[in-house]
Amino acid sequence: MNQNQLSILVVEDDLPIQQLIATTLAAYHYVFCCVTDGQQAILKAATINPDIILLDLGLPDIDGVEVIEKIRTWSAVPIIVISARSEMNEKIMALDRGADDYLTKPFSVEELLARIRVVTRRLSMIQTEIPSSHFTNDELTIDFSSSCVYVSGKEIHLTPIEYKLICLLAKHAGKVLTHHFILKEVWGSHIQSDVASLRVFMATLRRKVEPGAARSKFIQTHVGIGYRMLKY
Ligand code: CA
Repeated sequence: MNQNQLSILVVEDDLPIQQLIATTLAAYHYVFCCVTDGQQAILKAATINPDIILLDLGLPDIDGVEVIEKIRTWSAVPIIVISARSEMNEKIMALDRGADDYLTKPFSVEELLARIRVVTRRLSMIQTEIPSSHFTNDELTIDFSSSCVYVSGKEIHLTPIEYKLICLLAKHAGKVLTHHFILKEVWGSHIQSDVASLRVFMATLRRKVEPGAARSKFIQTHVGIGYRMLKY
């Protein structure tokens, strides 16, 4: 997909930040449109049908999380939320309500472009997705029909929980999944104390799929928030 053909809806009431985003998007030839409140965001999302939405969570009229809930009733468009460092809970709530990723203020132009690239990759994956018994991501392969996982063609032995975890991450590759979401999907519960055991399972899983890796290749940790499988 040619990234320049993507249209981006920018929802930000803080004008210097909106300006920074607009200048960056214009420099990279993205087609974009800026609005400053939640009502306009919902209206624009419905009328221009953007490919990506950049959404500030602190809006003057309605809450950004509410905007996500509304848009998610009809659209799966990737949403990157923009929030302040202090708004950790809001960020988690936004991800749980269906946001794909987040940017923390203040952010650099490079961070903004990197986030857009991540969702663009996810977007092309969604668009080309055909029902398949295999998931492939660089040297990682999951064969759903036999419940086998391979790294560079070599089979990796996973426990049933680890297998469930990797399938969940793969199904949502490119998207940040919160602890809450993962616990609910894999264990059917979401007790806060389970986050510690989730961390242990993730560490073992990572040792198996990323043996000897100095830094994580497939599974990215978002401290205090959750995990994401990076899509290559
Ligand atoms: Ca704001």
